[in-house]
Order: sequence, then C-alpha cells, then structure tokens
Amino acid sequence: MAASIVSQTVARGLRGASAKHLFLDKFKCAQVSSRRWLNLQEYQSKKLMQESGVTVQRFYVADNAPDALQAAKRLGAKEIVLKAQILAGGRGKGVFDSGLKGGVHLTKDPSVVGELANRMLGYSLTTKQTPKEGVKVKMVMVAEALDITRETYFAILMDRACNGPVMVGSPQGGMDIEEVADKTPELIFKEVIDIFEGVRDDQALRMAANLGFKGPLERQAADQIKRLYDLFLKVDATQVEVNPLGETPEGQVVCFDAKINFDDNAEFRQKAVFALDDMSESDPTETEAAKWDLKYIGLDGNIACFVNGAGLAMATCDIIDLHGGKPANFLDLGGGVKEKQVYEAFKLLTADPKVEAILVNIFGGIVNCAIIANGITKACRELELKVPLVVRLEGGYSTGGQSLLATTTRITMETALIGSPLTCVC
Ligand code: ADP
Ligand code: MG
Repeated sequence: MAASIVSQTVARGLRGASAKHLFLDKFKCAQVSSRRWLNLQEYQSKKLMQESGVTVQRFYVADNAPDALQAAKRLGAKEIVLKAQILAGGRGKGVFDSGLKGGVHLTKDPSVVGELANRMLGYSLTTKQTPKEGVKVKMVMVAEALDITRETYFAILMDRACNGPVMVGSPQGGMDIEEVADKTPELIFKEVIDIFEGVRDDQALRMAANLGFKGPLERQAADQIKRLYDLFLKVDATQVEVNPLGETPEGQVVCFDAKINFDDNAEFRQKAVFALDDMSESDPTETEAAKWDLKYIGLDGNIACFVNGAGLAMATCDIIDLHGGKPANFLDLGGGVKEKQVYEAFKLLTADPKVEAILVNIFGGIVNCAIIANGITKACRELELKVPLVVRLEGGYSTGGQSLLATTTRITMETALIGSPLTCVC
C-alpha cells in the first residue's frame, strides 16, 4: 500500500520518461527533484535530431485540419503518416475521445488527412502513458511515411547506478516494447558509456549488431547511435529515446519516433532549447508551483501535504495512506525556504477545492522553522483558511518556529475565529 502512493507520485513526476520506467530500477532513478524535467514534443525533438545529422523523415506540423491537408499535399510522398503530438508515448495504440482509434495513422491518400486531423485536433488521446482522461491534442505532425522492414528500440539515458549515461537497445522495438521488457528481458541490451571517452566504435558497432542490423546497415546504425550520443551531450539531455529506430527496404536506418528529456539544471546554458517549452500540457498548479521553486504534484485525495524534502514528502503521503487517508497532493518545499514561498504554497493548497485539511510536516534540518511559522501565520491571516490545519515542526532549527507557533496563540485564535482549528504538534 505504502509503495503505491510513492510509485504513483514518482510515476506522475516522470510521465514520459518511459526508458527509465522500463529498464532501470524505478526507485533508484526516481527524480522527484524540486524542478520538473523539460519535455519536448516529437516534432521539436526531431528538429534537434536533424540539426545533429540524425536521419528522420520529412515532416510538417499543423494545428488545424486545412493546414494538415495542405502539408500532406505539399509533401508529395507515396504514403503519409499523421501523428498526434502529445508528451507521451504509446500513441499508435491510443484512443481519442472522438472515437478515432490510433494516434498514428498511415494513408496513401493525402486527401483524407484533413478529415483524420479533424478527429485528432481538439480531442483527448489516451495511451498507456497518459492519465486516464488522456491529453488534449493541439498539434499534429504530417510526415512522409516509409516502409519499415524492421523496428528496433534504442535509447540513451542517465543511470545513477552506472554513474553516467547508458545505452539501452532491443532488436524487438516498436509499439510493444513494454511487453518485450517484461516477457523477454534477455532481448534488452545495455552498454555503459564512459562520460570522458564517449561512445567507442566497438560499442556502437556491438549495439548495432545487437539491434540486428546486418551488413552495411550495421555501420549506418552505429553512425546514427554516435550522432544520437553527440546530441545527448550537446543538449544536456537526461534521455534520448528512439522507438522505433527502423530500417527501410531501401537500406536506410531511420529514427521514426523521438523523445528527449532535458536536465533542468542545464537551463542556464540551453536557453534555446528551454525556450521551446510551451507549458501547454503542464498542470497549471504545477507550473505556478515551479515559479516559486516548489515541487507540486496533484494527487486524488483530500489531505494536503506541505513538507520539506522529497523523501519526507513521500513518507508523509505513505503514512496518510497507511492510516486510511488520501493525500491531495505532494508539495515539497525544498531547502533554502523563504517566507514568501510558504505563503505561496498555502495559496496553492487552499485554492484546491478537494483539500479538506492541511498537514504541515517540516523537519528543521536546513530550514529554519521560524521562517515556516511566519509564513503560516501570514497565510492564515490573509487567506482566511477554512480547513483544519495540523502543524508539526521538528528538528535542529525548530525551536524558534515551535515557540513562535506555540506561544503566539495568535494563529490558533485567528484560525479558530474563521473556523479553522489549528493543531500544533511541535
Ligand atoms: P508511439 O511510440 O507514440 O506509438 P510512434 O511514432 O512510434 O508513436 O508510431 C507508432 C508506429 O507507427 C511505429 O512503431 C511505426 O510502426 C509507425 N510509424 C511511425 N512513423 C512512421 C513513418 N514515418 N513511416 C512509417 N511508419 C511509421
Ligand atoms: Mg514510438
């Protein structure tokens, strides 16, 4: 039971990071950091790939059906593929709430592209990697389709266990990679990359051979692998995932799908990449929280958790769960806390109509609890808190905060006056 809340929280934090989810130890790689990771749409990732000399098919993007139709005609391809752009994989087997099945459609007739785009744009697409209600499609990619003789899986990602990047590949790529990882893990190959040396020729060739590329295709695939690693380094990625990395009857190795995640700590030197983030798929509360350097993940329950540190936040969620409650969120205040942040955090929590009580659980290790107490006092005064509030301040720096809360009955009185009982467990 306890693990279910932790993994739910981790999964929400990592939506879209499927390679980690599939192949690495979930808990070792859980990155519930105070910042979210930047995710880009497939078309944006493919532009970056093109710039690094990676082979992708020709494409246009459109946000309305007439433009999609125009793009299909302009491509002049034998076959067209229309792909819904959302920040999750599994689109091929996804379903739209318009009734349309499949977020990826192949057609030889460009004139049907407008009609298909009409049933994608503005509708929600649900896949194995999206929340149940799906994700609204705002953009489609219209690309040249190529015959694919074989689909393989290839990814490069940061792995804490290896202290650096690792390549993961399988000759059985395509839409059922989850099943391959589950049922035939021996078909998943890994190569640890030395961060100082980069991908060596022998490693790239071995991975290409493990992926099942033969003859001249082996060298071509190894070349694509090296270019993908160059891109991984160049853009400070935490993951570059290509599924499928396919081969065509004409003897070409092509990246048919692309998913790149970026290291938020590199934002200062990746301004152009981060400027591509349109935030359109982000939860507005998460986006607002990120502005104040707060890590917020909405959950389904009714008890708001206001905690410092991801570990304590997860433990708090689990304890609530263990005692039969349900956390309404996961809010990690992080380290160097300012009073304003505490206030803003309360604003976010109280704005959620699901929240019926707030639990503050702060360990005063790095944080001075007096700052927290002042923030809570201000929030109680100004936000007219209407729900019960339970505060626990504990640890080395907690004395100031405790006495502030305990000796000033101000909060108690004020919150009681507006019908919000305060329990202080200091
Ligand atoms: P997802 O991983 O979200 O399901 P993909 O981009 O991998 O989406 O597309 C799903 C499947 O559609 C691929 O496994 C491949 O079989 C097919 N496909 C994708 N792009 C092309 C293309 N350009 N030409 C031919 N088939 C394609
Ligand atoms: Mg794919």
